[in-house]
Amino acid sequence: LTVPTRTLADVGEVGFLSALLPGLRTGPGTLVGPGQDCAVIRCGNRRWLFTVDALVAGVHFKPAWMSPRQIGRKSFLVNASDVAAMGGRPRFCVVSLGVPSAYRSRDLFALQDGIVAAARDCGASVVGGNLSRAAELFVSIALLADAPKRIVTRRGARPGDRVYVTGTLGDAAAAVRLLGAGGSERRAVPLIRRFCEPAPRLHAGRILVESGIVSAMIDVSDGLLQDLARVCDESGVGARVHAGQVPLSPAYRRILGGSDALALHGGEDYELLCTVPERNVKRLERTRARLGCPITLVGDITAGRGVRLVGNDGRTLRLHSAGFDHFRSPS
Ligand SMILES: [Mg+2]
Repeated sequence: LTVPTRTLADVGEVGFLSALLPGLRTGPGTLVGPGQDCAVIRCGNRRWLFTVDALVAGVHFKPAWMSPRQIGRKSFLVNASDVAAMGGRPRFCVVSLGVPSAYRSRDLFALQDGIVAAARDCGASVVGGNLSRAAELFVSIALLADAPKRIVTRRGARPGDRVYVTGTLGDAAAAVRLLGAGGSERRAVPLIRRFCEPAPRLHAGRILVESGIVSAMIDVSDGLLQDLARVCDESGVGARVHAGQVPLSPAYRRILGGSDALALHGGEDYELLCTVPERNVKRLERTRARLGCPITLVGDITAGRGVRLVGNDGRTLRLHSAGFDHFRSPS
């Protein structure tokens, strides 16, 4: 980082953040600082979750893939997913829009409508924003949410904990592959819906946190193995994932057959990945029906470092290292 001519492509997203964050000083009232799904802050006697995320045309989606309303909805919902990962209740958001001059005002109304509707669906309201000219369309939303009494971050996983995920994985990544190939076959519709309109697990996240069952949690935005690696890094542990146990949707199985690569590495599922200490597994079983979504055991936390993927015969298939990085091209 000290060589001034190096670019973000040289340094990478992870490299840049690991150089930036240790020097960042947080003030009083910061209960949880950077590096988690949300910051936790104290204002007066209330605690809030605080998070921000952006969708950028050409980076996160091609404009032809989604309606303006869907772009607005998704921009809010990806933030709500970070709140779900910490068991909070979305309350207030502000919106920063960057829009090319040639963008149709009718489309911008539809996009804004999508943000407002998604916020309302999640119990939140849009309380302000900013509009500026930009080369590409982007929507950035900062969201404030009620914090639960108990704070769960990515740091609490311990050896012996079980690893669970909600819902199914890989649908959104499969949709991106199909959309990229120009495909719009009828059987792809459920996958494309999951890419365009994610359903953050707010209800399940709250129950998992408030019940005290989970030791660590994250939302799966960059792929199961990568996001599990983040939990492991933060917690100072390793993990083992059983490839055959990763939950796949019927639509995913119909189109991709037995290939689990997109379910393991694909992003944008917005499911929850959590770790559950052995002593809480029975309680999770009793709570399962109240979550409103399936939850599946996919592996366990180990004492070493790194995430190992194991096959049905128990043999290691591969060790997972780096995954998606915004500034590094996939090798
Ligand atoms: Mg997240």
